[in-house]
Amino acid sequence: METMKAAAKLEPGFGFELVEVPIPKPTAGEVLVKVRLSAICGTDVHIYQWDQWAQNRVKPPLIFGHEFCGEVAELGPGVKGVQIGDFVSVETHFTCGVCRFCRTGRGHICQEVKIVGVDRNGCFTEYVTVPAENLWVWNHDLDPEIAAILDPYGNAVHTALACDLAGARVLIIGVGPIGLAAIPVVKRAGAQQVICSDVSSYRLDLARRFGVDLAVDPRREDLYAKVREATGGQGVDVLLEMSGNEKAINDGFKCLINGGTASLLGIPSKPVSIDLADALIFKGATIYGINGRKMFETWYQAQALLEGGLDLTPLITHRFPLERIGEGLELMKAGQCGKIIIDPNGE
Ligand code: NAD
Ligand code: ZN
Repeated sequence: METMKAAAKLEPGFGFELVEVPIPKPTAGEVLVKVRLSAICGTDVHIYQWDQWAQNRVKPPLIFGHEFCGEVAELGPGVKGVQIGDFVSVETHFTCGVCRFCRTGRGHICQEVKIVGVDRNGCFTEYVTVPAENLWVWNHDLDPEIAAILDPYGNAVHTALACDLAGARVLIIGVGPIGLAAIPVVKRAGAQQVICSDVSSYRLDLARRFGVDLAVDPRREDLYAKVREATGGQGVDVLLEMSGNEKAINDGFKCLINGGTASLLGIPSKPVSIDLADALIFKGATIYGINGRKMFETWYQAQALLEGGLDLTPLITHRFPLERIGEGLELMKAGQCGKIIIDPNGE
C-alpha cells in the first residue's frame, strides 16, 4: 500500500504527531488532490492547542489543516467536469446539498456542513480526498502560495463586499490574516479611506505595507478619538469586525456613522455585551453576520479581483516544510506572522 506523511492529532490533548498513513481513495463524487502547498489557519491552532472548541468538535484521529491548493491526482466514480492534473483550490466547507439553505443557493449557511481538516481528514499531508463540487479550478497561472490561501482571502472578500464600499471610509478592526487581506479588497472596491486597528505591532506593520491610511493600536491610543479626527468628526461608513474581541466590537460600533454598515466576521470566544440601542438601533445601522464564503459567488469575486491585479503577496511571511509545521503553529499562536505556508514536498 502506498503511504504519505501527515501531521495528525492521534488522540485528545495538546500537540500533534507526524505519521505515515495510507494514501486515501476517492469515493463516488470525490477526487484525490495532491497537495502542492497548504497554509496554517487560526482554527489549526485551536486543534493543536486542544482548546474547549476543539474538544467539543474534533474527533481524533484526524489529519488537520484546510487551506490548500494542489493538483487533481485521481477521480472517484461518477466525477465529471474535472481533469486529472487540474490545478485547484478547495472550498473547505462541504455542504449537504439537500437542506433548505443548500437548496436555496445559500450553502455557506448549510446546517449539515462538514469542514475538511476539522470534521474529516485535511491537508497537512500529501494527498486529500474532497467532493468534486468543492474544487475551484484555475485556468490561468496563479502563484500556488496565493492559491493556497483562497479560503481566508475569500472570508475577507465575503465580509468586505457585503458592504457598499464605493467612496466609503472603512474601519477594519483586527488585522490578522483575514483583516489584512481585506485591505486590498476594500481599496479595489473603491474605499476612500482605510483605517485599521490591532493590538499586535507586527500586524499593524503588515497593514502599513498594504497601504492603510491610518493604523491604530487601541492599547496606546483612543481608537474612537483617532477615527473621529481622521473622518472630520463623522465616523466611518463601514466597519469590518475581524477581531472577535468584545471591547473592540463595542469600540467599532462607536466609530460607525449614523446609517453605517457593519460586517461581522470575528468570532468571540464567549457571549459579548453590547448596548444595542446606542450602538446600533438609534444609529439606524445595518449589520451583516458573515459565515465562510458564498458558494460560489465569493469565489468568482475573489478570482476577478486577483485577475484585476490585487496583490496578496505581502500577506505571506513564513514558509516551512511539513516536518517543521510545529514551528509555524507556535508562530501563529504568538501572532508573529501573516500567513504561513506549509510545503509537504519541501526540504
Ligand atoms: P486572528 O484571530 O489572528 O485575527 C484576529 C486579530 O485581531 C489579531 O491580529 C489580533 O491581534 C486582533 N485583535 C485582538 N484583540 C483586538 C483588539 N482589542 N482590537 C483590535 N484588534 C484586536 O485570525 P484571522 O484568521 O484573521 O481571523 C479573524 C477572525 O475571524 C477570528 O476571530 C476568527 O475566528 C474569525 N473567523 C471567522 C470566520 C467566519 O466564517 N465567520 C472564518 C474564519 C475566521
Ligand atoms: Zn445543506
